[in-house]
Amino acid sequence: MPATLIGVPASPGIVVGPAHLLRWEVPEVRARVIEPQEVDAEIQRLHVAIDAAIDRLRAVKVRVEKKAGPAEAAIFDVQIEILQDGELRSRVEMLVRQSLSAERAFDLVMLEWREHFGRSTNPMMREREGDLVDVHIRLLSLLLNLPDHDPVGLEPGSNAILVTHDLTPSLTIQLDRRAIAGIATDAGTRTSHVAILARSLGLPAVVGLIDATSKLQTGDSVILDGTNGTLIPRPTAAVLAQFADRARREAAAQAELATLADADAIMTDGTLVTLLANVDLPDEAVRAAESGAVGVGLMRTEFLVVGRTTMPSEEEQYEAYVKVVAAFKGLPVVIRTYDIGGDKLPIGGFPHEPNPFLGWRAIRMCLDEPELFKVQLRALLRAAVHGDVRIMLPLVVSVEEVRQARYLLQESAAELTRRGVPHRSDVPLGVMVETPAAAMSADSFVNDVSFFSIGTNDLVQYTLAVDRGNASLVTRYTPLHPAVLRLIARTVEVAHAAKLEISVCGEMASHPLMAYALLGLGIRTLSVSAGGIPALKRIVRGVSASASAAAAMAALAAATPREAEQALRTGLAGEVGEELIDGLLGLA
Ligand code: PEP
Ligand code: MG
Repeated sequence: MPATLIGVPASPGIVVGPAHLLRWEVPEVRARVIEPQEVDAEIQRLHVAIDAAIDRLRAVKVRVEKKAGPAEAAIFDVQIEILQDGELRSRVEMLVRQSLSAERAFDLVMLEWREHFGRSTNPMMREREGDLVDVHIRLLSLLLNLPDHDPVGLEPGSNAILVTHDLTPSLTIQLDRRAIAGIATDAGTRTSHVAILARSLGLPAVVGLIDATSKLQTGDSVILDGTNGTLIPRPTAAVLAQFADRARREAAAQAELATLADADAIMTDGTLVTLLANVDLPDEAVRAAESGAVGVGLMRTEFLVVGRTTMPSEEEQYEAYVKVVAAFKGLPVVIRTYDIGGDKLPIGGFPHEPNPFLGWRAIRMCLDEPELFKVQLRALLRAAVHGDVRIMLPLVVSVEEVRQARYLLQESAAELTRRGVPHRSDVPLGVMVETPAAAMSADSFVNDVSFFSIGTNDLVQYTLAVDRGNASLVTRYTPLHPAVLRLIARTVEVAHAAKLEISVCGEMASHPLMAYALLGLGIRTLSVSAGGIPALKRIVRGVSASASAAAAMAALAAATPREAEQALRTGLAGEVGEELIDGLLGLA
C-alpha cells in the first residue's frame, strides 16, 4: 500500500471515493524524428487528432452552455477556431515534412504562438494565450495517447476525489459539485482560495500535498481526510474501517455542536458576541443562514467572476446579491466589492504580473476601471432596497481610495435615479483592514468609513512577507506572530475610540486559539464560514472577557508566535479544558 500523503487540512471531513486526476498541464514531448516515408501517415495522424479535439470541444461546449450560459461557452468556439486555422495547420505540416513527429511539430508551433500572443501589447491578443494553452494541452494529450483529463467528464454521483495540481479558475467553472466528494491539490494552503471555496461548499479538502498528482492515478480508491490533512491511496479494509469509525465520531461531534445553532453567542460573564457568516457563493446563503449566523460579515463577490470569461451584468449581480440578502431576512449583509487579482482571476484578459499579490488587484483594479466598478456598485445599491446591505472595500491602503470609491458610489446612485430604478443611496461604506498600511493608519479612515473588518488572511501575509498560498511556507505563516497581534490591537483601539464597528472576517476567527486571542483583544464580531459557526460558538460560550483579555495581553507581549500560542493555550485550557480545545482544533 503506498504511504499516506501528508498535506494541509483545508476543509474538514473524511470521504472515500475514486481519485479523479486532473493534470491540465502541457505534457512533455520527447524529440522523435520520422523517416520520409512516414510523413503522410504522420500528417494523417495529426488531422485525426485535430478532428477528435474539435469533436470533444463541441461536446464540452454543449455542457458548459447548459451550466453557465452561451457567453461562457463561447470560449470553446475560440478554441475550435484555433484548431481550424489554416496557417497553424500548414506550419505544423511543414515541420512534419522536415521530419519532426506530429506532436513535436505541434508543440513547437504552439510554443511559438503562445510566446507571440503572450508578449503582445494588445489585450485581445493576450487574452487568447489562455485558449492557446488549452488547445496545446488537449491536442498533445490526444497525439500522445494520454488519459483524458477533461474535468467536465465527471457525472453527478461519481463521488470523485478530485486530485489536481491547483484548482485554477478555468477548471473551477467546469466542476460539478454533485460529482465531487472532496478536493486534493499539490499546491495551496489553508488560506488560498481553493481552500476557502472548499470550506464554503462544505467539501472536505486537503491542499499542499506537493506531489499527489504524480503518486495517484484516476480510479485509485482513496481516503481523503480533510480534518487531519492526509490522503491515503488504495486503503486496506482495516484502514477503511478505522476511518469509517472516525468519520462517525466526527459527524457525532458536529451534530452535537449543531445543537447550538439557536443558542446565544454569549461569554460566561454575559458579554454578547456577534457571529456572522462568510458567504462566497450565493447558492450557499440559505445553508449559512441556518448555521446560527446573525448576518453576513463577508460576501466575496469575486467568485461571481472567477472561472468566467465575461463580467456578470448588473442584473445578474443584483440577483446574486438579493439571493443572499433574502436568505438573511433583514439581517446585516456585508458585501465586499470585487477582490479580483492575486489567486482569484477571471479567464483571460487580465495582465500577467510578476508579483500578483502585490499587484493590480482589488480596489486598485476597480478604481482604475470605473465603468466596470460602477456596474457592481449599481447592483449593490439596488440590492440594498431589500435588506440591510453594507458595502466593504478590499485591500485599501489609503483613505484616498475610500473617497474615490464614495464618489463613484454617488455617481452610481445618480445614474440609477436618472434611470428611475429603485435603490438606496445611504448604504454604509466600510473597509477591510488587511494591509499593515491600513492597520497602522487606521485613525486616518475613521471619518470616512462606517466600519472596519480585519482581513487576517492578507494581513498576515503582508505583515510577515509570507505568500499565503505557498505550500512550502506554511510553517512560516504564523497568524499569532506578535506583529500581527499588535496591528490588530492597534486597529481595535482606533475603532473603539471612534465608536466604529469592527469585526474580523479572516481565517483566524475560526481557529479556537486565535479566536480566543481576538476576543481577548476586544473583538466582539467574528465572521467565519458557515461550517465553523457552531465550534466558534462553543468557544465563545465557554470563555470570559477578562480571562481572554489577560491571555491576549500575554500573547501581545510574547517574543515569538510559539510563546503567544502557549499563553493562549494556557488561558483557554483554564476556561474550557484541554480536551475541548483538541476536539475543536480537529474540526477547525
Ligand atoms: C482576508 O484577507 O482575511 C480576507 C477575509 O479576504 P480574502 O481571504 O478573500 O483575501
Ligand atoms: Mg483579503
